[in-house]
Amino acid sequence: MKKLIVANWKMNPQSQKEAEIVFNGIVKIAKSSRNIDIIVCPPFPFLSIGKKIKIKIKNLMLGAQNASEEAEGAYTGEVSPKMLAGLGVKYVIVGHSERRALGETDQTINKKIINALKSKISPILCIGESIRDAGGDYLSFIKQELHECLKSIPKAQISNIVVAYEPIWAIGENANREATPEEFTEARILIRKIISDLYDSKTAHSVMILYGGSVHEDNAKEFMLNGGADGLLVGRDSLSPKKFALIINAAK
Ligand code: PEP
Repeated sequence: MKKLIVANWKMNPQSQKEAEIVFNGIVKIAKSSRNIDIIVCPPFPFLSIGKKIKIKIKNLMLGAQNASEEAEGAYTGEVSPKMLAGLGVKYVIVGHSERRALGETDQTINKKIINALKSKISPILCIGESIRDAGGDYLSFIKQELHECLKSIPKAQISNIVVAYEPIWAIGENANREATPEEFTEARILIRKIISDLYDSKTAHSVMILYGGSVHEDNAKEFMLNGGADGLLVGRDSLSPKKFALIINAAK
């Protein structure tokens, strides 16, 4: 399976011009890294950039950072998966801790997954604990999140979902620290076991499991080589084509 690297730009950059510069940089990286799948998730207003600069590079795809749990109608400020699909979006991040902090629940996330799949958009489901307690309560927290988020999703759809293990304590500028490849390994094994128990082992092995949280050029390789990650979800360092290229090179 090809490694998958997701660029989550969050609410950056602030202008279309800057977004085009970063996007063009990533296009170059993708062209010289055909054995890696890259998903760029810009803010909504910049999603059309992909079309504008006519990406016809198979290993470079567009992702959104959010999508409505509703299909259409009177939902001011919401964007439907169908609208996103019309822009060429193939993936959507759901359950990011920054959206959970705004009040998104596992139940909402479950609806978003079901809705996205209807429009043939693959959800990138973010899960992860806020504290890694010595007693191991975080393990049951991860189990609960997966159970709720995958509720009533048929087996045949599971391989279209990507799971990103993103411990909240490792994300962003205020991160306590990055996770270790060993900590990721433990979470990865647990996630597969939970999916296997919910469905079956074959289905569990069809799901890509990524690591996210303060990924940079020096730890990217470790997470894939020693942590067995199928790929990475990159926040801050995806906004600098130079730093992102180093991560992609590590993934190669
Ligand atoms: C993220 O936003 O999901 C993320 C992992 O951010 P960062 O790489 O900046 O920690």
